[in-house]
Amino acid sequence: MATRSNQGQQIAMPARFFQKLASGVPGVLFIYWVSSDGNAHRCPFISEQVQALFGIDPADLSDNADPIFAMIHPDDVDAVMESIRASADTLRTWSYRARLKLQNGDYEWFEVNAEPERQLDGSTLWYGQFHNIQHYKNLEQSLRESEAEFSFQAGFQRLIARLSTEFINLGFGTIDQCIDELLKSIGEFFRVDRAYLYSFSDDYGFMTNTHEWCREGVPALIDTQHQVLIEDFRWWQEQIEGMVSGSRVVFIEDVDRLPQDAARERALLQEHGVSSMFCVPIRVRGKVTGFFGVDSLRRRTWRLDQADLLIIVSGLLSGALERHRLEEELLNQSIRDPLTGLHNRRYLMPRLDEMLGRSNRRGERFALAMFDIDHFKSINDSIGHLGGDYILQRFADILVRQTRSMDVVARFGGEEFIVVFSAVEHGDVRQLVQRILESVHDEAFVFGDEDIPLTVSAGVAGIEEFVDRPATPDALIAGADYRLYLAKQAGRDCLVDASGTLRI
Ligand code: GH3
Ligand code: MG
Ligand code: MG
Repeated sequence: MATRSNQGQQIAMPARFFQKLASGVPGVLFIYWVSSDGNAHRCPFISEQVQALFGIDPADLSDNADPIFAMIHPDDVDAVMESIRASADTLRTWSYRARLKLQNGDYEWFEVNAEPERQLDGSTLWYGQFHNIQHYKNLEQSLRESEAEFSFQAGFQRLIARLSTEFINLGFGTIDQCIDELLKSIGEFFRVDRAYLYSFSDDYGFMTNTHEWCREGVPALIDTQHQVLIEDFRWWQEQIEGMVSGSRVVFIEDVDRLPQDAARERALLQEHGVSSMFCVPIRVRGKVTGFFGVDSLRRRTWRLDQADLLIIVSGLLSGALERHRLEEELLNQSIRDPLTGLHNRRYLMPRLDEMLGRSNRRGERFALAMFDIDHFKSINDSIGHLGGDYILQRFADILVRQTRSMDVVARFGGEEFIVVFSAVEHGDVRQLVQRILESVHDEAFVFGDEDIPLTVSAGVAGIEEFVDRPATPDALIAGADYRLYLAKQAGRDCLVDASGTLRI
């Protein structure tokens, strides 16, 4: 009671002093009153600054505070009213932040701090001030942004460092897993729904999806994207030309806004639920061989520098694919015979070792056949070495045609070949070798004008024959070689295996 009359005096008495004080304060000083039922409110005092800030005459607020409350941002109104009610209920400091509309129409952040005081009639008075805190809000915002930016960049650098380490240490035959891992990491980092790699055919007529990562629940497309005829999609074809000749990226921010001439592409992307996509060309040895891309199923905003980051990723992929191709070529050169394209001894021996290992562990059956062309010297003599080479190539073709991809076909010496038939039973091998010798009979070998009659002899050894002595690659080959010798002895054009001689 005493306090109240004291303060009442202070407001009433030194009014000029009080006005002066208020005008020197950076914020707005005020006394705010709310009736006990909460239905009426006014500002018995509010400093002059409301005029300059909001274009409101302080006198207009002395009967009804509505005009200043009308300046509160619509999204903040409810919370402001709630904060006033809470302060009135608890008689704790009213402290709140909200946006207010300035004279120029802009909203800026203000903070209010006021002490409540209950009046005898149940109404409440607040004594306090509010001031502009937009500057701090801006600082806060830019701090948050730069922190987010920093952690985004740092995260990206970390990711690239990890992926490039993986690619550098790539072993033979692991590139596919590495690419899958890269697509997953990049997809998750950029929060997209799909990340993929396509390769073009040499003439850019077709494209094939070779690797794909999909977020959980997002349907995979890879199985439907095999040898897609690019010509069917004219707009896309133009984009590919841009990728190939200008190394341009293809960025579709909103599929719904694709141009009229991209109607087919738009329909297809919409059918797959794609909302936006980003594709970056992949270059191997200076030639664009495909592209790397990401899809987003929901509409999203893309950072302006996103393209640069995706180009870094595509550079990583390009490098890995380039190295992989080089390694494959080197590997091929070292394990293939250049004349026939068949594998050579260097490839055969370790494969034989592996098969022996599997056979020991799991009892897998396999057999080795050695073939030698009959009277090859006289063929060379009659049609020359080039002719002889031609015959070797033709016979190699027969071997490839008559065997399965799981078998190993190798040129072992001049006109000696070895086939390792995997996962076969004894009787089946006999038939397989017989079929090869018959094919030689059936085939017409014509060089120049000459029709060359060709026959081949074969010796076969099976892994199941090694019961009382250890099976080694050399022992297996020696076994087949010895039977080949027997086949030659038996007059050629036949095969010899454990069960004897079979004439063709
Ligand atoms: P046989 O029926 O007993 O096997 O008689 P053959 O004449 O085939 O005898 P042999 O296996 O001893 O002869 C192999 C010949 O194959 C010797 C060699 O001149 C020839 N030769 C080896 N490598 C090549 C090659 O790369 N190209 C050609 N044209 N001839 C080759
Ligand atoms: Mg020979
Ligand atoms: Mg021979």
